[in-house]
Amino acid sequence: LVSRKRHPEDTVVEVGPVRIGAGVPAVVAGPCSVESYEQTRAVAEALREEGLTLLRGGAFKPRTSPYDFQGLGFDGLKILREVADEFGLKVVSEILAPEDLEMALPYIDVVQIGARNMQNFALLKAAGHIDRPVLLKRGLSATIEEFKYAAEYILAHGNPNVILCERGIRTFERATRNTLDISAVPILKAETHLPVCVDVTHAAGRRDILLPLAKAALAAGADALMIEVHPQPEVALSDAQQQVNIPEFRAWLGEIRRMFGAV
Ligand code: PEP
Ligand code: MN
Repeated sequence: LVSRKRHPEDTVVEVGPVRIGAGVPAVVAGPCSVESYEQTRAVAEALREEGLTLLRGGAFKPRTSPYDFQGLGFDGLKILREVADEFGLKVVSEILAPEDLEMALPYIDVVQIGARNMQNFALLKAAGHIDRPVLLKRGLSATIEEFKYAAEYILAHGNPNVILCERGIRTFERATRNTLDISAVPILKAETHLPVCVDVTHAAGRRDILLPLAKAALAAGADALMIEVHPQPEVALSDAQQQVNIPEFRAWLGEIRRMFGAV
């Protein structure tokens, strides 16, 4: 079902006014974790000022250590919904467990399935039964074929609105947190009809190379970019070393707009 051979025309995923995969690159931006109403609102306000629509924020966090901040859960989703509605934005947020999906739907416009859950088949099947687009991240060490099969689960269970998200894969290289597999972008575009997003933040794991990675992603044909933005990254409860602050985000976006036009 994901194959372009069977379905030659591009799938366009509509999220409110945003049409992902229709030619104009989309930007998904927001904090790694929702930490408070004020923190989330500050980012949402900047998105609105920049004319962007897609606000990301983690409420259920898949942390490597059980002792790290696990997210605000449903309280975080409520914050996202409130600030998104205030500024006319759409919410992109990760769900970790199939049993949370139904209850989360009033708060979420795009359900994110994270890298660590790319082969959580119960979650993929459940995401197939909802009427909300799904942003599916590539697994930490998943091949492109495994990634496509994970998307296939969602389509096979009835949901055609899937965005594939390359977010870097694990290699021997330690200069970046993950290795952005730029080749995955044209390969996924050629082999599937689904829109492709590149999460530059989780690929890099550092904030100083987010602009060249974003340029490379768009030059390679990505339909959307994801970036983590926090009003005060240095005190963030997760991913403090890789999030950009609001002025840095605006500079990044301005440079992308200068090179690629409307986003
Ligand atoms: C995220 O986007 O919040 C996240 C945890 O990313 P990933 O699943 O790609 O590690
Ligand atoms: Mn993060």
